[in-house]
Amino acid sequence: MIPASGPSSIPRLPIMSDHPSMHHSGVALFVRYTCAMRALGFCTGLLGVASAMHGQGASAVWLLLLVLSCLTWPLLAWRLSAASADPLRAEFRNLTVDTALAGFWVAMAQFDLLPTALLVAVMAMDRTVAGGWKLARRSMGAMAGVAVATSALNGFAFQPHTRFATMLWCLPFLVLYLLAIGVAARTFAEKVRAQKRTLEHVSRIDAETGLATRPQWLAQVASQLQRFRRYGAVSSLLMIDIDEFKRINDTHGHLAGDQVIREVSALLHASLRGVDSAGRYGGDEFGVLLPGTDHQAALEMAERLRQAVADRVAVGGVPVTLSIGVAELQPGMDTIEDWSGAADEALYRAKADDRNCVRG
Ligand code: GH3
Ligand code: MG
Repeated sequence: MIPASGPSSIPRLPIMSDHPSMHHSGVALFVRYTCAMRALGFCTGLLGVASAMHGQGASAVWLLLLVLSCLTWPLLAWRLSAASADPLRAEFRNLTVDTALAGFWVAMAQFDLLPTALLVAVMAMDRTVAGGWKLARRSMGAMAGVAVATSALNGFAFQPHTRFATMLWCLPFLVLYLLAIGVAARTFAEKVRAQKRTLEHVSRIDAETGLATRPQWLAQVASQLQRFRRYGAVSSLLMIDIDEFKRINDTHGHLAGDQVIREVSALLHASLRGVDSAGRYGGDEFGVLLPGTDHQAALEMAERLRQAVADRVAVGGVPVTLSIGVAELQPGMDTIEDWSGAADEALYRAKADDRNCVRG
């Protein structure tokens, strides 16, 4: 039977369906899939229709026309989409032509039941998946219109009885096309899952430093606050700011500034224990959550970090220095702002005390 056109088999992904804002690669992928599915659908679909027509005594010329149309249309459709300035729109047009062509051959096969039912069902499903109700309505309307017109020209010939041979010739379409839909759906679902993971990663991890983003880090601080409320667990926060960073940017350029941020982040990362977590709080400002660490231990850890950066990070021969504020979580600190505010105040004191020092 004829092709079921297409592609549509593909689950309706946001990336594919939100025309015209659809991302270019999403469109290209959609067009590739629809073209591949169309080729498969027409090549296997024509078998059932040809068998039905042959059983009804159709002439060799009509059978040849059937084969030619089913082999050439997918190629032509592919060329039309590839040459179009708007491949998505062209492909939606092709999907409608698919159904019109199927309508023609279904009528020529005198509505032989199995090929007709398979084509109608698969095409309706396909179009709904690819373009929603609008495309399904338009396509199935075109199929019905062409089928009725063709049937009228054919003297309303109607032989719905399906021979056993035709049933067998319908099997390749049934099995291969449905299998391909399954594979396509699975492939797209995996792509969506991978994109979701990437998006989650991007929203959690700062791309430049590899540290947690501010929202992600604050969420960790919030859960530590909850643990403190429940179990009274000791915890400390560091607020770290690079000294005179504007001057580094102004003197050595933003690329040098970026490099400093990366080096400081790497040292910060290396100095943490597994349970600690560091986040990029702002441009040159970082926060560190130290669960199970009291004020004194946090001051010592901060001092080690300050010293390590001063010893190992330099730009234009001048050491880069940090100011660090430390605050241990205390009863009465009910919100993140209470706790981070205390660390911020300590940082402010470090800045006021000539920078390059730890206060808490
Ligand atoms: P202070 O010692 O008081 O902290 O002085 P400062 O010059 O470091 O002042 P501040 O922390 O307010 O300056 C931060 C500057 O960092 C401002 C902004 O232009 C710059 N900045 C923020 N994000 C980035 C970044 O990703 N890369 C670079 N190169 N610069 C950044
Ligand atoms: Mg600064």
